[in-house]
Amino acid sequence: MAIRQEKGSVSIDAQNIMPVIKRWLYSDKDIFLREAVSNACDAITKFRMLHPDSEEAMSVTVAVDKENKIIRISDTGIGMTEEEVRRYINQVAFSGASEFMKQFEDKPEEKGDIIGHFGLGFYSVFMVSDRVEIQTLSCTEGAEPVHWESEDGMGFEISEGSRAAHGTDIILHVSEEEKEFLEVWKVREVLNRYCGYMSYPVMLEDVNAKPVEKDVPVGDEKNEDGTPKTEKIMEMPKPQQINDTAPLWLKKPADCTEEEYKSFYHKVFMDFEDPLFWIHLNVDYPFNLKGILYFPKLKNDFGTHEGQIKLFAGQVFVADNIKEVIPEFLMLLKGVIDCPDLPLNVSRSFLQNDGYVRKISSHITKKVADKLNSLMNTERETYEGYWDDIAPFVKYGAIKDNKFYDLVKGAILLKKTDGKYDTVAEYKAANFDKTDKKIYYTNDEKRQAASVKLYTDRGIEVAVMNTLIDGNFMSFMEYQGNEEDRVSFARVDADIDGLKEESEEGKDLDAEKMQALFRGALGNDKLEVKLESLGDADMTAMVTEDEQMRRYKEMSRIYGQSFPLPDSFTLVLNRRNETVQALAGRDPEDETTKMLCSQVYDLARMAAQPLEAEEITAFLERSRKILNMVVKG
Ligand code: ADP
Repeated sequence: MAIRQEKGSVSIDAQNIMPVIKRWLYSDKDIFLREAVSNACDAITKFRMLHPDSEEAMSVTVAVDKENKIIRISDTGIGMTEEEVRRYINQVAFSGASEFMKQFEDKPEEKGDIIGHFGLGFYSVFMVSDRVEIQTLSCTEGAEPVHWESEDGMGFEISEGSRAAHGTDIILHVSEEEKEFLEVWKVREVLNRYCGYMSYPVMLEDVNAKPVEKDVPVGDEKNEDGTPKTEKIMEMPKPQQINDTAPLWLKKPADCTEEEYKSFYHKVFMDFEDPLFWIHLNVDYPFNLKGILYFPKLKNDFGTHEGQIKLFAGQVFVADNIKEVIPEFLMLLKGVIDCPDLPLNVSRSFLQNDGYVRKISSHITKKVADKLNSLMNTERETYEGYWDDIAPFVKYGAIKDNKFYDLVKGAILLKKTDGKYDTVAEYKAANFDKTDKKIYYTNDEKRQAASVKLYTDRGIEVAVMNTLIDGNFMSFMEYQGNEEDRVSFARVDADIDGLKEESEEGKDLDAEKMQALFRGALGNDKLEVKLESLGDADMTAMVTEDEQMRRYKEMSRIYGQSFPLPDSFTLVLNRRNETVQALAGRDPEDETTKMLCSQVYDLARMAAQPLEAEEITAFLERSRKILNMVVKG
């Protein structure tokens, strides 16, 4: 049977489609290598299925010939008969592409990265080529080699081919504009990215490579100093294997060692630090999903932290961080996920609404929650050791995804100023009977040390909420949907509700008179002054700032609001304190009284936050005067 020589047009749609392929995939040209190499791997798989007992070594070779401006992708796979070339290359390829075109008509703005990555497949090679040839020989008995050639992907020529062994060569005559792809380093980089874990050896060959000098031993001969005698020979560099055909995520979790998990992590994510722990996903039913998710050390620089989740479809790299498939909060982690059955030849908006994809995503979420809960429940101490690192991730996940929150709420910890950790429930049980049922916290242990001490002295524990996400996390806990889980937070200087204590001391002092006294002395008739009985009688006064007001001010500052918001401090005087009682009996018009009131106010404020420069000057000046008065008696 001779090859029917023919010139023809690839398909009626071709004229419309080629320009679109070229334009659409412009930003992502390098995927042509992925498409050609994964087709080559598929062809080998097909051969293997037909010949399960074959002993032949199977591989794909990508040969770069810069001098002749050629990239050749060769496989030892199933090959194609003439009829198959006509069917698979000339026609079928475009049925998928026509659908793809229709989507494009509906949603021109949807220029997603993965649209069309699959399904256009073979024709993506035209993005970088002036001319493409196929030399193929089918493995079926008596098949004849076929040559196919096309300049633009629209017209083709088919004729007798020259391949002697079964398999296919795709020969790309690389265009002048895309000559970058004739650089071996460039091809290596692209192959590493997309083909690093494909299932058959992918070899990279530099056709123009020159022989290199190499030392080889001369039999068993030794030099005078006893070292083995060598001679220099010239040797051609051998093609190098690009990929790891058996990636760790495909192994059974029980067969993987800790060392393997760690070195895989170092290699894939180029992170010198060890991950904290990891989850090996290994699902066969109801969908096929394999992967490894690593918890890196996030620390507090969470704001700048970018995780990386690499998505594969059957060992073929698709893209990083595809938010339609992987829950957004998981992007803080690092990992690989391989879903061979993902419908990737559809648009992103389809993926978003696809039930199958949603199932994958919620399965991953559940696995992550399971891991956190199991660490929490069986290795609490270890888990606490991880907490500072993983807290931003867990809190962010809780805020972003209610289901995740529901799953992990028992494993959310509060770090306390004593360095220990409580769950919210534990904190409540230990403290809520002593306070007005709020979680007291500090976001700056050093600055707020004095206020923290007021609480800890009374046996009330204080949580440390000092990471970037904590403000949002507290709001989330206060307003979240689950009413029974709602809990309020108050900074240690927000109010004194947890510090009040019944006492007879100073009961006869008049709150209004005290307010008038301090307003007069400070020259501030807006100042709010409260008279309370605080637990610690030595404590003269403190300033509080309403929690919500303070948060609002902090937010405004973060978002660069320009007009200054007024101070909203309250001065709380302790009626049990001797100084306060003595001040109450003094003449409000007396200069010394005024000075003492100012001193009380400044001291209370300094315990909570640093004073402004001019306030410090005034405070120092006044302190010297008071010293002088005391010395003179
Ligand atoms: P897809 O791979 O999504 O089917 P392609 O356009 O990439 O679409 O390829 C079309 C068809 O051409 C393939 O399904 C396959 O039958 C055939 N083909 C492509 N490359 C090869 C190859 N290297 N060896 C054998 N057949 C191939």
